[in-house]
Amino acid sequence: MSDPCLPGEFEIIRRYFMQRQRDDAGIVLGQGDDCALLSPTPGCRLAVSVDTSLADVHFPLEAPAEAIGHRALAVNLSDLAAMGARPRWFVLALTLAEVDESWLADFAHGLYSLARQHDIALVGGDITRGRELSMTITVHGELPAEAGITRCGARPGDLLAVTGALGGAHGGLRAWFDGERSADNPLLDAYLRPRPRVDAGIALRDLVSAGLDISDGLLADLRHLCDGAGTGARLDAEAIPLAPGLVAALGADQALQAALGGGDDYQLLVALPPQNEAAARRALGGALHVIGHVTSEPGIQGVSLKSPGWQHFYNSASGSGAAPNGHGEHP
Ligand code: ADP
Ligand code: MG
Repeated sequence: MSDPCLPGEFEIIRRYFMQRQRDDAGIVLGQGDDCALLSPTPGCRLAVSVDTSLADVHFPLEAPAEAIGHRALAVNLSDLAAMGARPRWFVLALTLAEVDESWLADFAHGLYSLARQHDIALVGGDITRGRELSMTITVHGELPAEAGITRCGARPGDLLAVTGALGGAHGGLRAWFDGERSADNPLLDAYLRPRPRVDAGIALRDLVSAGLDISDGLLADLRHLCDGAGTGARLDAEAIPLAPGLVAALGADQALQAALGGGDDYQLLVALPPQNEAAARRALGGALHVIGHVTSEPGIQGVSLKSPGWQHFYNSASGSGAAPNGHGEHP
């Protein structure tokens, strides 16, 4: 950031990453000091999670800056949603390869629009210059003591349900690689601007026995749920809700595969006792899709991924490793 015509680190923070916060946001001391001082609601527990988004690993570098800002926060909010936590505060560590003010303005716009929707306040961060664009966001949410959805409570006989259509993000990623750039394409929009199911998590937290957000694909995440409880599962392929337009784009077979193996949909997958089904459906205004049940025998029955490596088609597509895979490499 040595070009005298470009804003320096502090000016970037002032211009793009400082906003007046509401008086009731629980912020005793906000940005500008060495730490933020926050005031959690008495009796609540903090739910804390961090995720890094890397250019050309988690999102295409050429994606609209506003979508990159939206997405970076959305994937973190989804972790709060998965616990049933209420979003409160976040911090942002941003690494920029270059200073492009119009990019920064759009990025901040996407970030703040989603932050406002979910009533979460930016309370600090860091800016560095580096070779590649990356952003690391840590979110803090709140849960009443004893509440919260974990991955380990599923019991045989529980229903398995999802909060919305699947496969759309994968369809969007494929469309992106096919050159689609239209903001009106619902599949591309599902990939670039996931909608974290924060309200659904809060509505369901007292009704479900276990749950998580679907970031790695339905089957991969279902395995986490089963592993957490020492159970198996049986799914009904016909009951799995597919994103609108997915069958038209990929054909029925591939659409189901996208729903099973594609990641980044950020719907919630929950296990719940059958007697809670009606209440859970009411709590979500109807949008609960029962897709199977938990079994005592291990393993997942009823559906299968046609090719185990299918969802990673993009990894081998580029020798440079420059293609986004939606999940990133976790050590
Ligand atoms: P320090 O020297 O303590 O690391 P910085 O100079 O990095 O502090 O940041 C100054 C202030 O601006 C801090 O309060 C920090 O939290 C805030 N800040 C820095 N970068 C960001 C950002 N990307 N978003 C929000 N706040 C930021
Ligand atoms: Mg710093």
